[in-house]
Amino acid sequence: MRLLLIEDEPDIGRQLKSALTDAGYVVDLARDGEEGQFLGETEPYDAVVLDLGLPKVDGVSVLERWRRAGLATPVLILTARGAWSDKVAGFDAGADDYLTKPFHTEELLARLRALLRRAAGHAQPQLSCGDLRLDPKAARASVNGEPLRLTSLEYRLLHYMIMHNERVISRTELVEHLYDQDFDRDSNTIEVFIGRLRKKVGADRIETVRGLGYRLLPVDAGA
Ligand code: CA
Repeated sequence: MRLLLIEDEPDIGRQLKSALTDAGYVVDLARDGEEGQFLGETEPYDAVVLDLGLPKVDGVSVLERWRRAGLATPVLILTARGAWSDKVAGFDAGADDYLTKPFHTEELLARLRALLRRAAGHAQPQLSCGDLRLDPKAARASVNGEPLRLTSLEYRLLHYMIMHNERVISRTELVEHLYDQDFDRDSNTIEVFIGRLRKKVGADRIETVRGLGYRLLPVDAGA
C-alpha cells in the first residue's frame, strides 16, 4: 500500500516516513501544499496523511481542490492541539479522519489501517483469502496457520493483492502501489516478484489473467 505524507516540519516528516515504512507501507513525502497537491493528483495513493498548516497552499485548500476534482483517496488530517475549528474545516473539505498533534505513532498506524480497510470494503482487521491470512498490524502473513517469511516487497505485494482480492489487478496498478515516486519503475519486475510470492504462498493461489493481470484465489489447503 502506498501513502502520501504531506508534512512541512522536517523532523516530524522524517520520523513519520520511517515509522510508516517500518510498518510495511511505501511512502512519498511532500514538504509543502503545492507539491503535495500535485502528487495527490498525479499518483494513485491508497491514503494520504495531510498536515493542515503548510507552506504555499494550506492543507484544507489542498483537500478542497482534490475533492472538487473528484479524488476519492482517504485522507487523514493532522491538526494543531485545541484548534477544533480546523477539524470542522477539514471534515467539511472532505477529510475522513483526524489526529491532533502531538500524537502517538501507534495511533496514526491504527487509524490508517482502519481507513485503508474501510476504503477497500473490509470490516475485519485481519485480511484473508481462503486460508491465506494477513495481519496488517503485525505486518505478517500465514498460509493454513503456517507463518510466511516475506521480504518487505513481497509483503507489500501480498497486502495489496489481499486488500483487493475480489478483482484482477494489472501489473501497472501493482507497480504504482508498491513503489515510491523515486523508483525506476519497470512493470516486468512485477512478474519476477509474483513468481517469488507464488513459491511462498503456493502457485495455485495467484492466477494470471492473460492480458489483464493477476488475481488472488481463495484456496483452502486444509479443506
Ligand atoms: Ca505544519
